[in-house]
Amino acid sequence: MTTQQVNRALFDDVMVPNYNPQQMVPVRGEGSRVWDQDNNEYIDFAGGIAVNALGHTHPALVAALKEQADKLWHLSNTFTNEPALRLAKKLKDATFADKVFFCNSGAEANEAAFKLVRKYAYDNFGPEKNEIIAFTQAFHGRTLFTVSVGGQQKYREGFEPVPGGISHVPFNDIEALKAAISDKTCAVVMEPIQGEGGIHSADPEFARQVRELCDQHNALLVFDEVQTGVGRTGNLYAYMGLGVTPDVLTTAKALGGGFPVGAMLTTDKCAPSLGFGTHGSTYGGNPLACAVAETVLDTINTPEVLAGVADKRAIFVEELNKLNDKYGIFKEIRGEGLLIGAELIEQWHGKAAKFLAAAREAGTLLLVAGPNVLRMTPSLIIPEQDIRAGMAGLDKAIAQVLEAGPDA
Ligand SMILES: *Cc1c(COP(=O)(O)O)cnc(C)c1O
Repeated sequence: MTTQQVNRALFDDVMVPNYNPQQMVPVRGEGSRVWDQDNNEYIDFAGGIAVNALGHTHPALVAALKEQADKLWHLSNTFTNEPALRLAKKLKDATFADKVFFCNSGAEANEAAFKLVRKYAYDNFGPEKNEIIAFTQAFHGRTLFTVSVGGQQKYREGFEPVPGGISHVPFNDIEALKAAISDKTCAVVMEPIQGEGGIHSADPEFARQVRELCDQHNALLVFDEVQTGVGRTGNLYAYMGLGVTPDVLTTAKALGGGFPVGAMLTTDKCAPSLGFGTHGSTYGGNPLACAVAETVLDTINTPEVLAGVADKRAIFVEELNKLNDKYGIFKEIRGEGLLIGAELIEQWHGKAAKFLAAAREAGTLLLVAGPNVLRMTPSLIIPEQDIRAGMAGLDKAIAQVLEAGPDA
């Protein structure tokens, strides 16, 4: 098969239709630039959905992967390995956590977290204390347990029956949580910033009160930091900026910088509930993944990279405001650090995908967060000139979409 036959059209022929990828196939990336099969160049504001936090083919990550590739790929958890031990120690030293569990994705990290909170309540309070409270519009992954805790009905529809003992209340509504929480609640689960749900930040006062309510009811607080973690907000983890410490934290996406890895962090109080034999993963803590993640953490958890996030956000917001002065297309610019959401004005609600496609044609790769919000989750070290160049593409795209009109 020549590369010419391996194209976007082949996707529809050979792949389950659960995705609808853009109409080009990227083949190469460097920093915040990506090239497709026809050597067209793009500025990458999508960053693999908050994954490529150090851009593409970062030299330190490539070196870490190659070095480990020559040493040891896999052993399974009947052995431990040096990269996993080093990464766990670094995560422990850098956060509230005492103990770490490794897996391969965000959903798996959340699956481990949700199993842990149930098991912890079972071990310490008995089987009646099993209810999980989460928030509407929350996103926690696509396994059956994680779509059940997630707050978007559309991801559960048709897959019922789903696990029980889970309820949802509106985000940032402390009265609703007060009414729902009880001594049967084993955990409250939240994203510090709802990502897939449209880029909505937790109010710090709300987060503080959630922590208090959890303590009053002996419920654990789980922060899903799969999207907000590893420098995305300018803090290593968003909880550090909120000033509220969870009992369990999940991290994935940027942790591997593009190599699949996830982790659940927790305390010495909770960790014993995942005793020997209670949970596991064949690949979790894989040496290749952990060697790359260790280098990601070493590189991102530095004052230069973390402080740079605020500077880069300022350029993004300045450019988005300029576009808004010109076109009046955004209702609000939201998010923190380099997790940026630009909600379209009402007239353009439901049409975010049109802007995404037009931007790609103009050479800028974006994301959406639901049908109303353009989302940007670029590399944390994207150069200023790439931000400006990507915004020039977005400018062209907006002009083109507005000219065609909402019904085009
Ligand atoms: C992406 C995401 C997940 C799911 O991660 P996967 O690696 O796709 O399983 C879970 N929670 C949040 C907040 C996410 O953004």
